[in-house]
Amino acid sequence: IEQTLSIIKPNAVAKNAIGAILSRFEAAGLRIVAARMLHMSKEQASAFYGIHQGKPFFDELVDFMTSGPVMVQVLEGEDAVAKNRDIMGATNPANAAPGTIRADFADSFTENAAHGSDAVDTAAVEIAFFFPEGVCP
Ligand code: ATP
Ligand code: MG
Repeated sequence: IEQTLSIIKPNAVAKNAIGAILSRFEAAGLRIVAARMLHMSKEQASAFYGIHQGKPFFDELVDFMTSGPVMVQVLEGEDAVAKNRDIMGATNPANAAPGTIRADFADSFTENAAHGSDAVDTAAVEIAFFFPEGVCP
């Protein structure tokens, strides 16, 4: 059974959409097996998105991700990585299919409401980043 890391980004938290977004994961059969809320530091956000360091959108991304609290959860289920990314929709909300999280809750390319791991191996690294103590058995 697969796990993936999901983040409800600051713009979606600010618009009171935590419950609506978590409901979509649960309705799709993904189980929430760990969750925490935090306001990331610049150091945390830069490390989490380290792969994007040097890209033109990096500073704006770190500023955004540290602009307010985020909700971080581990989702578990069959094909959890791909399923979560399907539910989120395309990175650029202009290309996100109707009914996806980004179509409904994004404000811009950067402020696109949600993060989801892009592969099983990166999911493991990202889960350990936020849940070093592990998830519920
Ligand atoms: P995430 O990693 O947040 O789930 P993703 O995997 O769909 O999103 P990435 O390419 O990993 O997309 O980009 C990470 C994040 O950086 C995006 O979700 C978005 O917030 C921001 N971003 C990416 N590309 C751009 C861009 N061209 N302009 C503005 N922001 C961008
Ligand atoms: Mg990504």
